[in-house]
Amino acid sequence: MTLRDGSHISLWQETAASSIHPSTSSASKVDIIIAGAGITGLSTALMLQKSGKRCMILEAETIGYGTTGGTTAHLNTLLDTPYTTIIKNFGEDNARLVAQGAGQALAHIRENKEQYSIDCGFKNCKAYLFSQDEKQTKELQDIFDACGKVNLNIADESMIPVPVPFDRAMSVDCQGKFHPLRYIQALAEEFVRLGGIILEHMRVTGVTEEEHILNVETAGKIYVCDKLIYATHVPPGINLIHLRYTPLRSYAMAVTLKSDVYPEHLSYDMYDPYHYYRTQEIDGVKYLIVGGEDHKTGDDTNTEAQFSKLEAHIRKYFDVDEITHRWSSQYYDTTDGLPYIGVLPGHSDKFLVATGFGGNGMTYGTLSALVLKSIVFQEENPLIKLFSPSRIKPVAGFKSFVEHNTDVLKEVLSKFFSSDPNTGFADIAPTEGKVIDVDGRKIGIHKDELGSVHAVHAACTHMGCTVAWNQTEQSWDCPCHGARYSTDGKVLNGPADRDLEYVNVEILAEK
Ligand SMILES: Cc1cc2nc3c(=O)[nH]c(=O)nc-3n(C[C@H](O)[C@H](O)[C@H](O)COP(=O)(O)OP(=O)(O)OC[C@H]3O[C@@H](n4cnc5c(N)ncnc54)[C@H](O)[C@@H]3O)c2cc1C
Repeated sequence: MTLRDGSHISLWQETAASSIHPSTSSASKVDIIIAGAGITGLSTALMLQKSGKRCMILEAETIGYGTTGGTTAHLNTLLDTPYTTIIKNFGEDNARLVAQGAGQALAHIRENKEQYSIDCGFKNCKAYLFSQDEKQTKELQDIFDACGKVNLNIADESMIPVPVPFDRAMSVDCQGKFHPLRYIQALAEEFVRLGGIILEHMRVTGVTEEEHILNVETAGKIYVCDKLIYATHVPPGINLIHLRYTPLRSYAMAVTLKSDVYPEHLSYDMYDPYHYYRTQEIDGVKYLIVGGEDHKTGDDTNTEAQFSKLEAHIRKYFDVDEITHRWSSQYYDTTDGLPYIGVLPGHSDKFLVATGFGGNGMTYGTLSALVLKSIVFQEENPLIKLFSPSRIKPVAGFKSFVEHNTDVLKEVLSKFFSSDPNTGFADIAPTEGKVIDVDGRKIGIHKDELGSVHAVHAACTHMGCTVAWNQTEQSWDCPCHGARYSTDGKVLNGPADRDLEYVNVEILAEK
């Protein structure tokens, strides 16, 4: 089984062999270092290695530890940001480029699967979008028209794959689905076969730039390269980019059905947040995977309730035999709806980044490999400008930027105007966590199953916002930029690159 940045075990984790790679290398200089071994890092590393660059992947934990191990792996050109919005924000020609790029990404996955005979349960399928009331039907019509404008292969549908009542439906052809961990593990094998180096348990903790090279610091050793690519889902440290995305959590369940009638295609309703449905067959067993109940990271502390709502939704429409897996994971929505792929703002062109994929990171993570290769080899590619992390869109995204960052401000102010009573931790039940105020300092208290108390300073090491308890994944989550920490303060998700400080619980107990 592979490891992941949450306490619930995803379907993918349990059905993939663990990856074992060394954590040191005698090589000290390579052409390109890629930080992060999710779908983005591995797709990019393999592509660059194949194109003649000597590459090294530095992964803080193990392959697939991030959201790639907690995804649901729909492979789409029908994107979360509707083409109506992409056309509004970027124009019709650019929206067509995005659709084309998404198509290239899916074609690239199909090619990899064929070329390396990857046994990842890949299947071509359609994606269905369906409306359930008048307002949604009007929106569906607009999306249908916009999908036509960007040349997707669309159709009106009178039936949908899932037993959910609907008003109107459309489909998009040439989509796909696969087992994400089996896919990326095969990419890793091929990368190593071509001479690439993968180091696990090797977090990038800092980088210094000299005239022609970068010194990439890790806990063990400094590695030297010409370029560094942050494929870490969000770049570590403090960067302008952190003000231009919102971290969100989404929930998923895998279930078996009594009837053996599993939907073959991908399906989506149109609520906000929406539900997403698909089937994956693994080692002869079929699983229906349903996701939804998304919320901003740190916003909803009763995260167990999200699973209850999702379960009720699934049971309402499907004859569930067994709930085999449930998990939640994190993604990042950008303010204007497109990802950031290119030079990290405020840095030289030696620093590249790929982030902000929303719920389409299988597609965009793969597309990042194609775009980053164009950047590295200075090839013409119109997506370089379109996805540039430094793009300035004064109107697009302004509303969500303000909405999200009002909360950031609230978080920062709350450090000064704290009203939390010092309730101590007697009223915290086992497995629960709570932030309390001790002499003006926010302390995160967690009781494990045995009642032992673990305490951390609750100020996120990224920019100082107060972390919130995530009951479902048993973690401390930052509502500002999405950093997450384990119960003992260890970084689970960036952008934080330092752990939360431990607190001496004996001293607290005396108060
Ligand atoms: C519940 C859920 C369902 C989703 N469903 C879909 C879907 O159906 N289709 C789709 O296309 N997308 C989906 N997404 C989004 C998609 O899964 C993600 O966008 C994608 O997995 C991101 O991949 P990544 O490689 O960029 O990042 P990750 O998979 O998060 O990998 C980043 C890696 O970087 C490592 N790392 C972090 N910091 C450092 C450091 N300093 N040094 C070294 N390594 C570091 C981490 O350990 C991690 O392994 C979903 C997301 C969620 C939350």
